[in-house]
Amino acid sequence: MTLVPFDDREGWIWLDGRFTPWREANLHVLSHALHYGSAVFEGERMYDGRIFALEAHTRRLFRSAELLDFEIPFSEDLISQACTETCIKNGLTNCYVRPIAWRGAEQLSVSALSTRTRVAIAVWEWPKYFDATRFQRGVRLSWAQYRRPPAEAAPTAAKAAGLYMICTISKNAAERAGYDDALMLDTSGAVAETTGANIFFVRDGTLYTPKPHCFLDGITRQTVIKLAREAGKRVIETRIEPDELATFSECFIVGTAAEVTPVGEIGEHRFQPGAVTFDLVDHYAKLVRAHTRERALTPA
Ligand code: PMP
Repeated sequence: MTLVPFDDREGWIWLDGRFTPWREANLHVLSHALHYGSAVFEGERMYDGRIFALEAHTRRLFRSAELLDFEIPFSEDLISQACTETCIKNGLTNCYVRPIAWRGAEQLSVSALSTRTRVAIAVWEWPKYFDATRFQRGVRLSWAQYRRPPAEAAPTAAKAAGLYMICTISKNAAERAGYDDALMLDTSGAVAETTGANIFFVRDGTLYTPKPHCFLDGITRQTVIKLAREAGKRVIETRIEPDELATFSECFIVGTAAEVTPVGEIGEHRFQPGAVTFDLVDHYAKLVRAHTRERALTPA
């Protein structure tokens, strides 16, 4: 696979309020965020011209910044609008959207009271998070070396750059060992989430998912719970022990990037992606594009 470096592409990036040519959207090496991890970001997807759950993502971006003790110097409405406008400016209607806010280079020390908050929004085409050939049989997860920090040890409700350090180490190790991703536990040893998505299990038609006490209560997670309940399924948020995995028949992970992705394997455990998973794959795919159907049904 040839990777086109992210700093050497055509297009426009929204930077601190104006569109900047892609290659010129740079920051200084002495930026606070680079040294101390003071950055928060979002991952969104535009489907057929509309960003799914845009307001919820923007709200979480602002909440994440607040949890890291900095303010975003724009309104939520302006950032939401800028996300859509960045897609339009780049001529994209189906793409990934990445807003990020970070502390600038005005002060470089643990203390950061004098830094200015910078904001950027970039968008790019990104079809599927996982290899499409793995989809039907399910992706393969290994056990991660690191555990999610508890809420007393980190601002775990924030989508903060610093919290991804252990995710990258874990995902790299998984990929090197031939897996697609890694499943992380919490510090008490219960199942938490993967390096970039929430997880669900199925037993006798009922869905089970860990309570998001030390990781993101993902927007996709909340959406999938609602979809499953609307379809008459029971969804139980509960503590899940690793040795309970043998009692589940299906497993899938959910996230903006991952959407709803079947899991075939977690370490020594095997799952058979089935009707519950694939129904949710379909329902989610329809929901994110519901506006396209509405438009098609509306007489001109
Ligand atoms: N957990 C982690 C670590 C993630 O990176 C993501 C993706 N943002 C999620 C869960 C799922 O969140 P969402 O459904 O809001 O994209």
